[in-house]
Amino acid sequence: MSNCAEQKGTNYIFRLEALDCANCGAKIEKAVGSLDYVYDASLNFITQVLTVTADDSCDEDIFDRVTDIVHRYEEDVIVVDISSDDVLNTQKPISDQLLKQYIPVAIGLILYILNLIIGAIYHPTLLFTLTIYIIAYILAGYDVILAAAKSLLHAGLFDEHLLMSIASIGAFIIGEYPEAVAVMLIYKVGEFLQSGMTNRARISISDLMKLKPDYANVIRDGQPVRVTPELIAVGEIISIRPGEVIPLDGIVIEGMSTIDSSSLTGESLPTVTGPTDNVISGTLNISGLLKVEVTKTYRDSTVRKIMDLTENASNKKATIEQFITKFARYYTPAVVVLALLTAVVPPLFSVLPFSEWVRRSLSFLVVSCPCALVISVPLAFYCGVGVASKQGILVKGANYLYALTKLEGIIFDKTGTLTGGNFLIDEILPAEGVNMQQLIRYAVNSEVYSVHPIAASIRVDYFQYIDTDSVTDFLQLPGLGVSAMIDGRRIYAGNYMLMEQNCIHCSRLNEADTVVYLAADDKYLGAIILSDTIKRDARDTIIRLRRQGISDIYMMTGDSIAAAELVATLLGGNITVAAELLPDAKLERTERLLKAKQKDRYIAFVGDGVNDAPVISRVDIGIAMGALGSDAAIEAADIVLMTDQPSKLNTVIDIARFTKRIVWQNIILALFVKLLVLVMSVLGLAGMSYAVVADVGVAVVAIFNCMRIWSVTQKRNFKT
Ligand code: ADP
Ligand code: MG
Repeated sequence: MSNCAEQKGTNYIFRLEALDCANCGAKIEKAVGSLDYVYDASLNFITQVLTVTADDSCDEDIFDRVTDIVHRYEEDVIVVDISSDDVLNTQKPISDQLLKQYIPVAIGLILYILNLIIGAIYHPTLLFTLTIYIIAYILAGYDVILAAAKSLLHAGLFDEHLLMSIASIGAFIIGEYPEAVAVMLIYKVGEFLQSGMTNRARISISDLMKLKPDYANVIRDGQPVRVTPELIAVGEIISIRPGEVIPLDGIVIEGMSTIDSSSLTGESLPTVTGPTDNVISGTLNISGLLKVEVTKTYRDSTVRKIMDLTENASNKKATIEQFITKFARYYTPAVVVLALLTAVVPPLFSVLPFSEWVRRSLSFLVVSCPCALVISVPLAFYCGVGVASKQGILVKGANYLYALTKLEGIIFDKTGTLTGGNFLIDEILPAEGVNMQQLIRYAVNSEVYSVHPIAASIRVDYFQYIDTDSVTDFLQLPGLGVSAMIDGRRIYAGNYMLMEQNCIHCSRLNEADTVVYLAADDKYLGAIILSDTIKRDARDTIIRLRRQGISDIYMMTGDSIAAAELVATLLGGNITVAAELLPDAKLERTERLLKAKQKDRYIAFVGDGVNDAPVISRVDIGIAMGALGSDAAIEAADIVLMTDQPSKLNTVIDIARFTKRIVWQNIILALFVKLLVLVMSVLGLAGMSYAVVADVGVAVVAIFNCMRIWSVTQKRNFKT
């Protein structure tokens, strides 16, 4: 470690353009990560983005060092520093350069085929045939051989280029000319297919990132000016015409319109928006001209945050992904050693000539490339995360997607999660001698600053009583209610526990509804009885969760036992209810469940983000619901459901399982085929070109398989 390594790190982001060897990617990641002043390096192979956390005081040469390392493994890759850019915006899915690179390969392929035909018909001289083969070989493989020579010079011995070079040159030496050229050609064609397909997957995912607004019309000196959203400051006024994407978060100051937020939520239910409403960047203005005061810069905007989260999801790797990378590290050398043994040992005992064993061992070398495995696993997770986000579900890491497939139990928060949180006021019961109007006035104004759904409902019904000037010293008492000074009196509004805590005498109303008790100082003022309804899809969600095999479903709430039991019954019963819990008690219950769970199984908590952040961050998988526009919830959770539909849980579990299935299919397929080819080549049943075809074939099939995640969810549409 260098002496400046104690300080806090800075993030550098590089795009590795035209990186198409996943295994080299893994090596680059490891090499950069082991630099002295680098704390962490994480490569997202799919997006070709390398994130490096390094010491800030050593930043002069980090770009050069990274470029050096990258070129050691992959010479053609262009390193671009995009630390200050928008990662997605600058992503170039496929460069012409890549296509150009394959023109010699195409010519080589044509020469090879012509040579075979000419050879069969005209029987030319060996010199002629060999010359054409060598030309074809060089056209196809010169860059592979150059790269191999480079990597031989700079450590990193078992690189796939080197393996291919040894295998094909070896084939030339033992006189297998067509085979030698074929190996290189198939390898290059396979490489082309792989990078083309990875790119397609990349494009289909980034298509859904089309949310990024290209421009904003900001009003400066009374004139609308078109600028990029990055250049607009908080407080400026922008105008948004019908059909335009809302570029920045803000508050409507003029105009009425409908907004389509399906790009973020996956749901196409337009909402009507007018003055004082918040608008969210990335959503679409449908019908009217809006003037909006910007409340956040582009860097802090919702759209940017969501894009970043989805984009970086692959940085949190699932255990299985880490395992495969590690496995690949041992697999290649192990097979190379086997290849050596095959060339050296059997000839001592066998009647077959030495050259035959060399040929068999060369096939081994070809099979030793772990590419299919190394690409297909992260790609599957990438597709899974992308498909989820298309449905309005943000999964913040492949690890969470994987954990979802091993879910043992789910804990639901009640209010705002299973129930709508749109409370209706059923009854107002003033205590004796208390004026009804006065009671309402206290209730509304004590709740005026609260974010709780109860407060919002009371405010909506009695907004004419709101008088913010009369309220001072507001306190939110999580799990209990609120308190504020109004007219020089300390008002309490909340549940029965709140009354008990403040020694306020009142009789407990044994209602299955939610009751807000009110008191001024130590005098009981009366109660407001509210009722909430369960969400439209809540019951269905629970039924489907059971069908998905999630056995333990819990509901935790700060509300009364009666209210909680009623909701549980409405949801079809069979839910373990814990009620009248303060946030601390919720946390403590959760801890207990976490301790009692089986090893290697996970517990999720689903909440609406109102005072359940501690639990969300404590459980294995914290899920925030209805989070569009709520930064705190997006921040705290591991998975964010943008809409407030609990059924999105079923969807994300389906996606997670499908992804896992694909991952396993790919792993098993790859290992099986490799093993088969190894055995066949020892027995002399598979030549070298079979081995390359098998290798390329597996990679291509694995990539296709990943793309199924995409198409299947589109077909099923996963809507509820
Ligand atoms: P839940 O666990 O159901 O989401 P909370 O922990 O948010 O509930 O709140 C628990 C209970 O505390 C509510 O059921 C309500 O009785 C009371 N409460 C919380 N906030 C308020 C508020 N702003 N006004 C009145 N009562 C409240
Ligand atoms: Mg709540």
